[in-house]
Amino acid sequence: TGPAAKHEFQAETRMLLDIVAKSLYSEREVFIRELISNANDAMERLRYHHVTGVIGSDLGAPLEIHIGADKDHRTLTIQDTGIGMTEEEMVDNLGTIARSGSKGFMQELKEKGDGVASSIIGQFGVGFYAAFMVAEKVEVFSLSHKPGSKGLHWVSDGCGTYEVAEAEGVKRGTKIVVHLKPDAIEFADVDKVNEVIKKYSNYVSAPIFFNGKRINRTEALWMMEPKDVSDTMHEEFYRFLTGAYDRPRYWLQYKADAPLNIRSVFYIPDTKPTMLDMGREGNAGVALYSRKVLIQDSSEQILPKWMRFVKGVVDSEDIPLNLSRELLQNSALISKLRLVLTNRLMRFFQEQAKKDPEKYDLLYKDFGLFFREGILMTADQGEKEEIAKLLRFESSKMAAGEKVCLEDYAGRMEAGQRDIFYLAAPSRELAETSPYFDAVKEKDFEVLFCYEPYDELVLMQLRQFDRKNLTSVEKEMVQDKEKEGDTTTQDDNSLSDTDVKSLCTWMKQMLGTKATNVKVTRRLSNHPCVVTVAEMGAARHFVRTAFQGIP
Ligand code: ADP
Ligand code: MG
Repeated sequence: TGPAAKHEFQAETRMLLDIVAKSLYSEREVFIRELISNANDAMERLRYHHVTGVIGSDLGAPLEIHIGADKDHRTLTIQDTGIGMTEEEMVDNLGTIARSGSKGFMQELKEKGDGVASSIIGQFGVGFYAAFMVAEKVEVFSLSHKPGSKGLHWVSDGCGTYEVAEAEGVKRGTKIVVHLKPDAIEFADVDKVNEVIKKYSNYVSAPIFFNGKRINRTEALWMMEPKDVSDTMHEEFYRFLTGAYDRPRYWLQYKADAPLNIRSVFYIPDTKPTMLDMGREGNAGVALYSRKVLIQDSSEQILPKWMRFVKGVVDSEDIPLNLSRELLQNSALISKLRLVLTNRLMRFFQEQAKKDPEKYDLLYKDFGLFFREGILMTADQGEKEEIAKLLRFESSKMAAGEKVCLEDYAGRMEAGQRDIFYLAAPSRELAETSPYFDAVKEKDFEVLFCYEPYDELVLMQLRQFDRKNLTSVEKEMVQDKEKEGDTTTQDDNSLSDTDVKSLCTWMKQMLGTKATNVKVTRRLSNHPCVVTVAEMGAARHFVRTAFQGIP
């Protein structure tokens, strides 16, 4: 290289550059994340060459990222002590969009069967261009680690051409100076930059110094082996993650390599959710990462809405960093991730319920409303029934305070019993003295007692569990036709047929349109009469409670 050599971006690069700078990312601030990720990759690659003996034993400058913001000069500078670039590499990797030196490196490693590849972030070759969302000019100073390399200076305004020239005093690695557009001056603001680095790059392996101060200290705990993570580490990480002061009552660290790469950790808070958390508008509690770099905090896509009480981190190296919000929504990969994680978490709750029923009861008390919402909002019957395994009820066959789940109920049904019966009542006492309960008592069927107004609605929506119908005892009374109007087993105290007929006629007259019919039943032993209802009418307990207080 003599004097500055002028190069033109390839035609398609120019086009793509425009797309990247204008519309690939939903937020401009991610350019910082992209440049940090590149710096991290450059150092990982150098470290790899070092440990494999490609370069000498002396690493020279420590592997660190230094970032500086300068409001007066309207610049943001990101410097690494990584692998650096030769002139050829600058032309190849910075002059050609969608050309990734990192990807080439990883492919090389994969062919060798080397595991280091997962610490490399980049692979799509578009991240660098994100700088042009905010820059009127980008300068790159670089010195390759290769022996005999010369310092280089690359500069471009992102509009078609770039120049490369030799430069004096360049240290090993790469320094990128982003000259900010007037409308992007916020990215030279110390507080803003600090916030953005912490938001996206807090867990990046390389140490990051901002204006001389180390700022990313937190270990990416979800990447560690579960056995190496102590309870205290989980508690601290949970507090760090949520900003809460309590501790998690449960945690689950889950990793998988197939069908998807997943590293994740989930927490259930100790404190009861507030009304705000309960509301459908409550925020999702899980952040999505790829290779320790944030893609989206509070991601709505990774878990179903009803699981918004679960806090945590999901990291998958299969998910490209560059996915925008819109693309995330329609990604088949994300759907698969969501399915795997949802099932794992439901299984986790089921396991915990078996392991420590008392602790689970507390969870159910505090978070059970979310499970109920899950059943109401899920269209898929299989998924509804999985969630339904998490429900607990008192029952006619158990002492007050003891709870049964649908699986156990189904497992001990009487011979000849085809339905799962439930009864909605505000309390155990009212349930046990209810005429509807009276009516099924003689059959000795177990009856679930629903005290919560939503329970009945939830069971109606569920319709079936393990191929058994969920049936309200109120409805059962209407259905049980054989006994309707059956007066043949009269004893001496019974009314005569004629008296019964005239009594019914009289009652019908008195009730007018309030009742469709008045019939005789012999199923009640302690009550003179009972009101029966058609199917949807069975939700009247819910309706009554829901509308209480409305004038
Ligand atoms: P990706 O990171 O997905 O590969 P980028 O557009 O972010 O794509 O970067 C393109 C390529 O430029 C990288 O793969 C790498 O080869 C090179 N590069 C970018 N930044 C640096 C850096 N700080 N040090 C060395 N090489 C870099
Ligand atoms: Mg990159």
